[in-house]
Amino acid sequence: MRTCKGCGSPILWIRTEGGKSMPCDPLPVGYREREGARGKILTRGGHIVSCDFTNDPTAETGYMPHFATCPNAADFKKARKKG
Ligand SMILES: [Zn+2]
Repeated sequence: MRTCKGCGSPILWIRTEGGKSMPCDPLPVGYREREGARGKILTRGGHIVSCDFTNDPTAETGYMPHFATCPNAADFKKARKKG
């Protein structure tokens, strides 16, 4: 598993339906899809959906894009460009 160059957290790369790889937090989180919600989640199928996050164990789970949670997101974006 790779780690974030910004903060050192483990990163899970998930391929989106658009064919790009997106760095995500490796722990799945519960969500409920809702159009216009501020949260973004990457589903297991590679779809990016707007959602509200929930702790409900019956909810769908997906992966949070790491740039949303990284404490060093600014550094992280620079690191991403370098590849
Ligand atoms: Zn990070």
